[in-house]
Amino acid sequence: MFVGYVVVMAGMIGFYPVVADHPWLGTAWQVAIGWSAAAVTVLGVLRYRPPGRAAWLFFAAGVFLNTTGIPVATLIEQLQGPTYPSIADALWLALYPCLVAGMLVVQRRHRIGGNWTATLDSATITAGLALLSWVYVIRPSVHDASLTLVGHVVVASYPIGDVVVLAMTTRLLIRGGWRLPALRAIVGAMGLLLVGDILWVIWSQAGFEVTGLAESGMSMIFLTVFATIGSAALHPSMRQLGEPLDTGSGMQVRPTLLVALTVAALVGPVVLTTQALSGKVTDAFAIAASSTVLFLLVVTRLAGLVRHIEAQSRQLRELARTDALTGLSNRRDWTTHLPHATELARRSGEPMTVVMIDLDHFKRFNDEFGHPAGDRLLKSAAAAWQEQIRAVDKLARYGGEEFILLLPGAPLGEAVETVERLRAVTPLGQTFSAGAAEWTGEETSDELVARADRALYAAKHGGRNRTEVAESEVAGSAVTARS
Ligand code: GH3
Ligand code: MG
Ligand code: MG
Repeated sequence: MFVGYVVVMAGMIGFYPVVADHPWLGTAWQVAIGWSAAAVTVLGVLRYRPPGRAAWLFFAAGVFLNTTGIPVATLIEQLQGPTYPSIADALWLALYPCLVAGMLVVQRRHRIGGNWTATLDSATITAGLALLSWVYVIRPSVHDASLTLVGHVVVASYPIGDVVVLAMTTRLLIRGGWRLPALRAIVGAMGLLLVGDILWVIWSQAGFEVTGLAESGMSMIFLTVFATIGSAALHPSMRQLGEPLDTGSGMQVRPTLLVALTVAALVGPVVLTTQALSGKVTDAFAIAASSTVLFLLVVTRLAGLVRHIEAQSRQLRELARTDALTGLSNRRDWTTHLPHATELARRSGEPMTVVMIDLDHFKRFNDEFGHPAGDRLLKSAAAAWQEQIRAVDKLARYGGEEFILLLPGAPLGEAVETVERLRAVTPLGQTFSAGAAEWTGEETSDELVARADRALYAAKHGGRNRTEVAESEVAGSAVTARS
C-alpha cells in the first residue's frame, strides 16, 4: 500500500506540468493529490492506530485546508480577477498552525516537552533564522507600498509560519527524531515546504513573475510535501511516532548541533557586515535584538552544561571513594583520609586507634552458601557495624573480606570495646579476628597500619574470633604476638 501510494503519487506529480496550463484540470489535479494525501493520512491512522493519533489528524487537516485553498483561489480569480490577499490565503496559511500543532503532539508524546536543553538549542537556531527571515523577507515585504494592511500581515505570515515550523523541526531533530522513517518523511516534508517558500520569496523579491514552468515547479514542490506526509502516514513506522524516544539526558552537544549553533550565532555578524559593506545598515536594531537573545540563550545553555558536568564530577568523586558492594569507604579513600586524621591527632594531642578486621574462614562460608550469599553477608555486616560506631569513626572495606576502622580520639581500650560491640552484631553467627593499634604519636600512618595488621595476624594465629592489641613499639616491647 505504501509503495503503491508512493508510485502513484510520483506519477501524478510528475505528470502535473502537462495539465497545469488548463485552469480547472490543473486545479483538479492538485486537489486530487492534496486531498488524497489528507485522506491517506487519516487512513494510516485508522490502520496503524498510533498512540499519537492527534498529530496525524492535525497534519491531515493542514494538508486538506491548504489544498482546499487551491480551488478557492482559482474560483476567486475566475470571478474577480487576481485578488491578493484572499480567503484562499487563510486556507493556505492554515497549514502552518496545523503542522505546528501536530509537531507539538509528536514532541509531547516523545517526552521531549519538558526538556529544556532541546528547547534552548532550537530557540538559538531559530533566533538566527528569524533574523535572516526578518531582514530578507518580512521587512522588505512590509515596505511594499502596494499592499494593504491585511496584505502585509498575510505576506509576513508565511515566513513567520516557516520559522515556527523550522523551530519545531529542529527541536525534534536535536532530540534524535531522525531515526524513525515516518518522522524522517515528516521532517523532509517540512524541509521541502521551507525550500518552496524560500524559492517563492526569492522570486517575488526579484520581481520575477512566477508563471508557466516555474509555477508548475513550485506547485510540484508543495504537492510533493503533501504526498510525503501521506506516505509517512502509510509507513508502518508511523506507529512508533507516538512512542517515547530514548534519547538520553539531551545534555550532550553533538558535532552537527554545535555546527548549527555556531552558524546561527554568526548570522547577526554576517548580516551586519553585509549591510555595512553595502553602505547602509538598515537592520541595526533587529541584529542587536537577535544577537542579544542568542547570547542569552547560549549563556543559559552553557550554565546548564556546567551544572550538569559539576553534578557528574561530584558523582564520579563519590563513586571513586566508595566500595560498590557495601557502600563503605574504599581502601583508597581510607588511605588518603588517615594522614589528615594523624595530623589532627598530632595537633590536638588526643589518642587515635586503628583496627584491622578480617572475617574468619570466609572461604568456607562461600563454599557452603555460595558467593552471592557471601556478598550479602559482607553487606549486612558492614551495615550493622556502621550503626555501632560514631560519626567521627571511619570504617572502610580494605579488601575482599577485610575491613579497617579508624577511631579518632579513642585510646586502645575504648577501641577494643567498640570492636566487641561489632562482634556482637555481626550477622549469621559469623566471627572475625581483629588487630588494634593505637597511634604512638610519632610513627607514620603506614607504620601504624602495619602494626594493626601484625596484631590481626596474631589474632588469627591465636585461634580466631578474638581481638589482639599491638603494644606500642616506642614503649620498648614488641607487638603482642608475632608469627
Ligand atoms: P581466615 O581469614 O579466617 O584465615 O580464612 P578465610 O577463608 O577468610 O581466608 P582468606 O583471607 O584466605 O580468604 C578470603 C576469602 O574471602 C576468599 C574469598 O572466597 C572470600 N572473599 C573475598 N572477597 C569476597 C567478596 O567480595 N565476596 C565474597 N562472597 N567472598 C569474598
Ligand atoms: Mg578471612
Ligand atoms: Mg582475608
